[in-house]
Amino acid sequence: MVGTLHAWHAVERGHQVVQIEREAEARGASLRNFGQIWVSGRAGGEELHTALRARELWESIGARVPALGFRANGSLTLVRDERERAVAEAALARDDAAARGYELLTADQAREVNPALRGEFTGALWCERDAAVEPRTAQLALRKALLASGSYTFLPGREVREVIGERAVRDDHGEVHTGDAVVLCTGAALGGLVRELAPDLPVRRVRLQMMQTDPLGEPLTTSVADADSFRYYPAYRSPALDELAAVQAQTPTAAAYKMQLLMVQRRDGGLTIGDTHAYEHPFAFDVLEDPYDHLAEVVASFLGRPLPKIRRRWAGVYAQCVDTTRVVHRQQVRDGVWLVTGPGGRGMTCSPVIAETTANELGW
Ligand SMILES: Cc1cc2nc3c(=O)[nH]c(=O)nc-3n(C[C@H](O)[C@H](O)[C@H](O)COP(=O)(O)OP(=O)(O)OC[C@H]3O[C@@H](n4cnc5c(N)ncnc54)[C@H](O)[C@@H]3O)c2cc1C
Repeated sequence: MVGTLHAWHAVERGHQVVQIEREAEARGASLRNFGQIWVSGRAGGEELHTALRARELWESIGARVPALGFRANGSLTLVRDERERAVAEAALARDDAAARGYELLTADQAREVNPALRGEFTGALWCERDAAVEPRTAQLALRKALLASGSYTFLPGREVREVIGERAVRDDHGEVHTGDAVVLCTGAALGGLVRELAPDLPVRRVRLQMMQTDPLGEPLTTSVADADSFRYYPAYRSPALDELAAVQAQTPTAAAYKMQLLMVQRRDGGLTIGDTHAYEHPFAFDVLEDPYDHLAEVVASFLGRPLPKIRRRWAGVYAQCVDTTRVVHRQQVRDGVWLVTGPGGRGMTCSPVIAETTANELGW
């Protein structure tokens, strides 16, 4: 998505773009994510500003490319007790609460917004600015629009192996591609070419487990999170969160796998649900069952009914700046050659702005 949106901005500004993809079709984090255009938990300041601008761009691109599936669905972070509610209240007291569209809802008000939530909770933090797109097809939809521009070429099944001279790369078919600028958007592929160009990259890899269910059989009108997500997003840092963390541990499974619940409905009615976070290498090559049991239990408690059959399970890896306050790592690695990686768990959200910033900085 980061590469595709660089192509988008370059084509918008009148340039010809060649996008080189090592797989026959992209298979990276951009397809494996929730598709959450997530404003609610972003840190105040630059990160929030980026997410809000990104949401604007997603909305305008979505109007031109309806197959992206952009929808302004908002999110509800459900709370179950007074301590969790206090964290939501602290979020509401932020200076930037209005910019995020925060509101604190009672359980009944939350059910009016999202009637599928018939289970147990006492209230919810509503974030009006949150939105969603369809990750499995977003890149394909953008590509189709780019191809229609006549200014874009997609070269799949070719790995970029070498930067040669200025503003040129060689792929693993031995072909050389030359341009006015080369932007390497290699996602979490940080070895090989990337290690040669930037050996001390301040970026790490993070692995997550996810699932998707059969159709729910009714609309889930908003994205849904549980209060564990308060523990992971900077916007919720407050004395109320410190108190919650001090006296109320996560369940052992949630703590062991660094979990929160995030859930969004796909256009076919299925639910994308996650997630876990693993930082230690080597990453597991298999997916573990305990986190799925935990998520199924939490979701069932909020929906007040069992989870539909789990249809798919997968893991994904994203690249994240070690300094997590940075939105992305953008580095000039040779004359005319830039590396853009490390957007972390907000890369789907922020990619239109990350690419727009590159375009502005390079004077496209
Ligand atoms: C499970 C999961 C859930 C997430 N949920 C969200 C979310 O809801 N919202 C959000 O904002 N973010 C989310 N993220 C983060 C987001 O998905 C990523 O930050 C973002 O997709 C990164 O995009 P990318 O284009 O940099 O990487 P990728 O999508 O991984 O793309 C990199 C591409 O580069 C190609 N490539 C690599 N090296 C070469 C080479 N040498 N030559 C040619 N091609 C090459 C790869 O094949 C790949 O297609 C999530 C991530 C994961 C894993």
